[in-house]
Parts: sequence; structure tokens; C-alpha cells
Amino acid sequence: MLYKEQQIKIYNSLSGKKEDFKPINEGHVGMYVCGPTVYSNVHLGNVRTFMSFDMIFRYFKHLGYKVRYVRNITDAGHLENDADEGEDRIAKKARIEQIEPMEVVQMYTVDFHTILDTFNFLPPSIEPTATGHIIEQIEIIKEILDKGLAYEVNGSVYFDVLKYNESHHYGKLSGRNIEDLIHNTRVLDGQSDKRNPQDFALWKKAEPQHIMRWPSPWSDGFPGWHLECTAMSTKYLGEQFDIHGGGMDLKFPHHECEIAQAEACNGQSPVNYWMHANMLIMNGKKMAKSTGNYILPNEIFSGDNPHITKAYSPSVARFFMLQANYRSILDFTNAGLLASEKGHNKLMEAVANMEQLQPSAETTEFDVDAWKQKCYDAMNDDFNSPTLIAELFAAVKFINQIKDGKASVSENDFKALQETMNAFVFDVLGLENETAQAESGDKLAETVEILIQLRAEARANKDFTLSDKIRDELAAVGIQLKDGKEGTTFSTN
Ligand SMILES: [Zn+2]
Repeated sequence: MLYKEQQIKIYNSLSGKKEDFKPINEGHVGMYVCGPTVYSNVHLGNVRTFMSFDMIFRYFKHLGYKVRYVRNITDAGHLENDADEGEDRIAKKARIEQIEPMEVVQMYTVDFHTILDTFNFLPPSIEPTATGHIIEQIEIIKEILDKGLAYEVNGSVYFDVLKYNESHHYGKLSGRNIEDLIHNTRVLDGQSDKRNPQDFALWKKAEPQHIMRWPSPWSDGFPGWHLECTAMSTKYLGEQFDIHGGGMDLKFPHHECEIAQAEACNGQSPVNYWMHANMLIMNGKKMAKSTGNYILPNEIFSGDNPHITKAYSPSVARFFMLQANYRSILDFTNAGLLASEKGHNKLMEAVANMEQLQPSAETTEFDVDAWKQKCYDAMNDDFNSPTLIAELFAAVKFINQIKDGKASVSENDFKALQETMNAFVFDVLGLENETAQAESGDKLAETVEILIQLRAEARANKDFTLSDKIRDELAAVGIQLKDGKEGTTFSTN
């Protein structure tokens, strides 16, 4: 197995250092990533976060690890602001659109999956929903209450941060201490049931007009947002697992609260490596719908947005995002996309040319083995995709030299070059050769035209057995023939 030869180092947000990755179970990786709250179209910044973890998931798989990758769908409990106030985001959207909350959830879950598919994401191993795990969440609340680290007021249950902090360190992930938190949290307005403003909701009693509600020992209500991730990560990955990821903005309070809940229940730190992907900005500024400095993922593919001058393919957009380190801020600009498109096409062209090369007796001008290890070194160094891409371009140069007769490659090196290039370009970075796809689309059309001709000839000869057979067997593989005045056309599904 490759993982026995390659030692990954991960930047752990908890220690602020790069650490050797040692999985809890050899050859296995358990990874949890906080998924989207499905109340609007997926934000490009979120796509970037999930893409970083898609690349990480892909690299672990490439190394031969058995990975259980859990990415949840938040379909209840996420209120408008982090202070446990305001309306549930999904319920609010449902009220405005006058549809069922679950229709909102369905609509934006489909949108989320469609966008991620377009970007060539691998599906996670498990994609659990918050509403599917209400019972598990209630069980965790009972445990925290039993430990004396939560309290009930008027049907709602809150986590007692000050009490917890007596025996644990609340704020260890985000580098805060309790004094700062007390100092920086605004005073309760008298409407709140919380004992202290730092406390967070585990269960909220539903107001009479609140549609999304479930029975519990305390009230008909709904779980606090932070709780679902503790419930689902524990259920599918265990009380202690390898990696927890998410966007930088989730570090506090969301992930801090997850640590507190899990430690309160199980007495141990739930996660060995905390990983956070940095933000995506646009033209040097925060992306926000309200200021117009905003683009939807779909608009990149259609070119239908004032901030870009043309449409970009999903693979180009993916390449653009992976050219930045996942821990750096990424500035989305048209100029950056244009440059990425050039680079992407140059890379794809070289990959296509590579297949046509002829090996020679020996390799000149390039050390394939050393290059191959440098590609692994880049990814082993906290998944450094920009360094990996720079290495891939060193190979592009070599491929072009061979093509021009200025270098040569031995049989063995050629095999290693092909395998390594294909593995990193397609399996790990998840790029797609769109020209090749377009060409195979053309070939399909030509092939079907030949069959349509043969069928027309069969019909002219009154050989209806054969003509029906051609039509039915094409239909069986998803190609429908349609006879019209202008002749026969086809469609695929
Ligand atoms: Zn979460």
C-alpha cells in the first residue's frame, strides 16, 4: 500500500502546527466535514471548502486508505445568528416562499448535489441529515444533563460553558480563553433564558408558530445547531476519530461547541486533527449578495455574470481553486480564471500528447523517479496542491521536450510518468479532460448516424425485425430514435 511509503503531515488547527498524520486504525481514515445548511444556492466559498476536502479525500484514497468520509446536510436547527437567536434559516425561507420547510431542503439539497457533481466531486461515504438524527441528539443532551454540564429553563436546554470550563478548556481550538469570551459577549437582553451569554442552546423550545418541531423530554422543539455534528460524527465515526474539517468561519463557535459537547459526554477530545479551509473572496473584497460582489457557481459555467468576461468550464474553475493552498485566502478574479484556463489547457494538452510518445532506450533531461516523489512530497506536506501543480508542469515541459525530440524517456520511466500524471491530474486533483469528452461525444453522434442509416436501409428492404432491433437496442442503452418528416433524429438521456 502506498500509504506505508508516504507520510502525510497535516496542519492541525488545534496545535497550530504541522503534525505527522497517524490514523487511529492503520489503513483507515475517519473524516467528518460540516456540510451546507440547505436554505439557498450553495455559495462559491462553500464550494471551495468542500473542494479542498474532496481533494484530501481523493489523496487518502489514492494512497490506499479505506476512508469513511461523512459530510452532513443541515436541514434544521441553524438559526439566523450564532447567539441562538432569530428564526431557523430553513423555516424562514419556507415562510417567505410559502412552501414546506422540507421543500426548501429538497430544492437546495438537489442544487448542492448538482453543483458538486458538475465540479466532479466524489460523493462522501455517508451524508446524514440533522432531522434524521433527532433521537441521537436528544440522547446526547440527556448525557450532558446527567454530567451536570447543562441546565433546563422553560423547556429549553443550554450548555453551561462556565461550569464546563472549570474542568476543561473552552476555547482551545480558536485560541480564546473564558475571560476574553466573557468580556466580548454582549450582555443578555432579559429575553434570554440563558444563565450566561456564553452558554449555547442544546435544545430550543419551539414557539407556537414554529413548524419544525419534535417531541423531547423538555418540550416540543428543535436541537441547537452545534449538536447535530456531535451526534452524527459520534454515530458514524466513533467517540474519537481522525479528521474534522470545515470552513475557517466554523472554528468559533461551532467547532468549539462540538468539542465541548463531545468532551462533556465522553470525557475525551473527539478529534485528532482539526482542519480548516480558508475563505474565498472576489476582486479583493468579501463576497456578498448585498453588495453585488457575488457570483453563483452556475454563472461561472454560463459566463452570465458582470464580474467575468466569458464562461469557464467546471474543470478550469476547479483547477483555479486548487492552484491556491487550501489554507490561504483565494481571490476570485477574471484575470486569475483566464490565466488558469491557459494553464489547465496546457496541462491537458500535454496529458493527451503523453499518450502518443514513444519510449527510447534511456531517459535524458529529466529524473522521473525524483519527480514522482516530489509530487507525493507536495501532497504529503499538508495537501499542498499549488506545489503539486508546479511539479506537474515540470513534467509538462519534459513531455513537450520528448515530443520535440529534445529529450527521451525509457520504457520504465514512461510507464511511471504516465501513471503518476494520470493519478495526480485525474484521481487526486479531480480535473477532467473536456476536449477528450467533447471528442467522444462527436464520435457517439457519428456512430448513431451509421446505425440510423443501417436501420433506414433495413426498412427499405422491409426487414422490420432488424430495423426494430436497432431501435430497441439503442433505446436499451438510453438512445431514443425519433422518426420525423426530415428523417430520423436521436436523443440521449
Ligand atoms: Zn458542523
